[in-house]
Amino acid sequence: MTVSPYADDPKQIKETNPFESMMSRFDEAARLLNLDPNIYRILRSPSREITVYIPTLMDNGQYEIFVGYRVQHNFARGPAKGGIRYAPDVSLDEVRALAAWMTWKCAVVNIPFGGAKGGVICDPSKMSLAELERMTRRYTAELLDFLGPERDVPAPDMNTNEQVMAWIMDTYSMHARHSVTAVVTGKPVEIGGSRGRREATGRGLLFVINEACKKFNFDINSTRVAVQGSGNVGGIGAQLLQNTGYKIVGISEIKGAIYNPNGIDVNKALDYLKKNKTYEGYPEADYLTNQELLEVDCDVLMPAATENQITSANADRIRCKIMAEGANGPTTASADKILFDKGIFVIPDILANAGGVTVSYFEWVQDRMGFFWREDVVNERLQDTMVASFHEVVRYAETHKVSMRIAAYMLAIDRVGYDLKLRGVYA
Ligand code: GLU
Repeated sequence: MTVSPYADDPKQIKETNPFESMMSRFDEAARLLNLDPNIYRILRSPSREITVYIPTLMDNGQYEIFVGYRVQHNFARGPAKGGIRYAPDVSLDEVRALAAWMTWKCAVVNIPFGGAKGGVICDPSKMSLAELERMTRRYTAELLDFLGPERDVPAPDMNTNEQVMAWIMDTYSMHARHSVTAVVTGKPVEIGGSRGRREATGRGLLFVINEACKKFNFDINSTRVAVQGSGNVGGIGAQLLQNTGYKIVGISEIKGAIYNPNGIDVNKALDYLKKNKTYEGYPEADYLTNQELLEVDCDVLMPAATENQITSANADRIRCKIMAEGANGPTTASADKILFDKGIFVIPDILANAGGVTVSYFEWVQDRMGFFWREDVVNERLQDTMVASFHEVVRYAETHKVSMRIAAYMLAIDRVGYDLKLRGVYA
């Protein structure tokens, strides 16, 4: 997010601007690829940025006007794809960065989509379900001309869920006069969602962490993991890792974290969080700040909360050996260099958290076929994709002697640039 703890320091503002963060990696990867300057210029800017003003009837009878965005970064490889987030600090620069990250992410895992992202500036924790539904439907209606299974396919992101996707699907379908299930992914299974989609981001993280542990000969049963975040990515990821044998030593939510070097029972901790809305007072662990959690002694760190958590201000104190980015953009470009020099093996966001969009792709395919797969089939195909993509990025990093992050960008930009060249530029 653009709000940073260093908001009055211009150097840090630049560092924590997600668009700058994305662009500086893009520029470095493009330079190393010797990317054609014309392709470079085209990929540097989004295709389309839409701002909508969303009049929403609030429960008190007043209308509130929410501001919403949808940025469609690129269509060279297929329809634009990416989530929608609801948060008070959403900004156009953030959505713009997230849209570009979706283009690179879809290319890293080689699925036939471009990239997009949406966001609405609102505080869903202060809105009723009815207000959220009205805002979502009007936001969808404002974007009708730009969405569609062949155009742009939204999905959940921060503070949006299956219910929000169901409203979007229904609103779009009412205008089309027939059900268009493939217009969004991450829907409830009963109305065209895919089995395994809810757990897919966490499961994808598990698969790439497994591969990284194999690479470094870590024994899973003595590998200590700290997780930042307890939501759909962090919470489910931690549960799946624990079920596989990893020891979860720390986990956090927005206000604070718990830490126990002997391990935390994730299911118990998540139950506690659900009941108490905080980890504070959890009896079987110490209570830490989010910042302290990032710096604990562990083998694997999984930042799965939000942007700009690891910056030039704290990267030097990070003590893990492997970092798997569950969130989009948790590490700034300046922090990348510090982590690289410390020898930390970073599985970058556009690879590590691509399990979600991969199963979104499977959902879109199933909707279009009208034929739905068993959960084990979904999970097996997800595993194939994540494992293959992990090794492709590792090979790229080793061949070009670059970090995993720059390797992932290079692989993605190479694929998108090649496809753009094949199609040609309609000018
Ligand atoms: N919001 C998720 C992401 O950032 C999923 C996007 C999708 O499935 O389209 O990858």
